[in-house]
Amino acid sequence: QAKLSGKNRWQLFDAERDRNLRGHNENLDRIRLGLEQQEFVLYYQPKVNLRTGAVIGAEALIRWQHPERGLLAPGQFLPDIEGYSLDISVGEWVLETALKQLRQWLALGIELPISVNIAGHHLQQANFEDRLVELLQDYPDVPTRLLELEVLETSALQDIEHVSSVIRSCSRLGIEFALDDFGTGYSSLTYLKRLPAHSLKIDQSFVRDMLDNEDDLAILQGILGLAKAFQRQVIAEGMETAEHGSLLLKLGCELAQGYGIARPMPAHLMADWLKNWQPHPDWAAQADSNTF
Ligand code: C2E
Ligand code: MG
Ligand code: MG
Ligand code: MG
Repeated sequence: QAKLSGKNRWQLFDAERDRNLRGHNENLDRIRLGLEQQEFVLYYQPKVNLRTGAVIGAEALIRWQHPERGLLAPGQFLPDIEGYSLDISVGEWVLETALKQLRQWLALGIELPISVNIAGHHLQQANFEDRLVELLQDYPDVPTRLLELEVLETSALQDIEHVSSVIRSCSRLGIEFALDDFGTGYSSLTYLKRLPAHSLKIDQSFVRDMLDNEDDLAILQGILGLAKAFQRQVIAEGMETAEHGSLLLKLGCELAQGYGIARPMPAHLMADWLKNWQPHPDWAAQADSNTF
């Protein structure tokens, strides 16, 4: 059996690459069509204060209600559009949909801030703030403080000067930023000094594993210390159980989000959830034992 010559190997490789590109282009086209056909939806996951029981906001999380493939999670389609202009179209759709939702909730007497995840590539656009201001002008009845933005710590670090300036201009508009998945980047004192984000969202991996991994517990405590020193709000992601909640309170982390509180849900279920939500009795007990 003859071995492929170097040249043929390249031809094989190119053919495969071409097929992948074509597959990728089909994915992009399908997502573009999905946007037109309004197949995307936002789910909302509450963020609460474990000590007081107050619901402090909800994170908007995109889903794709695909007619053939069912409800798709962001990990199943966002990677395809990362870095393409389509991720800006999707990002703008998410911002607009969140603003519509805020307006709708306000009409029902619900004043619940929504946090929107912004892709690094979207945030890096030179006209990000201008586009945001344009969008906000269409929703004059929605107070800007009800919209919050999240950017991955790792994306923020890629262009720290630009991201810092976006954070500052958004802050002037009344819109706060959170550094998402915090702890997975450099999480250094110097970077934090240069990134005027209002809050840090502790990555869920540390929260999940803090109960049985001392290193994760140490990282989590380190982030809490960092947040305190820089006077940033801190919120734990991925709080899956009451046990996690109790430990978070014991460590002085009052704000949390996770399946142990609520899973992400469609917007129409939120009003009922808000009515029925009660913090776990253990959390309050934990908080009481902390007051000196
Ligand atoms: P993220 O912003 O860190 O959002 C938290 C993710 O963790 C969500 O996954 C949420 O459903 C999940 N989660 C929440 N609590 C728990 C828990 O207790 N346990 C576990 N195992 N998971 C929990 P989801 O919705 O699949 O989103 C994944 C990521 O996709 C998000 O991570 C965010 O980075 C990105 N994403 C979601 N929606 C958007 C969007 O509208 N725009 C952009 N650019 N990115 C988005
Ligand atoms: Mg997020
Ligand atoms: Mg996160
Ligand atoms: Mg994440």
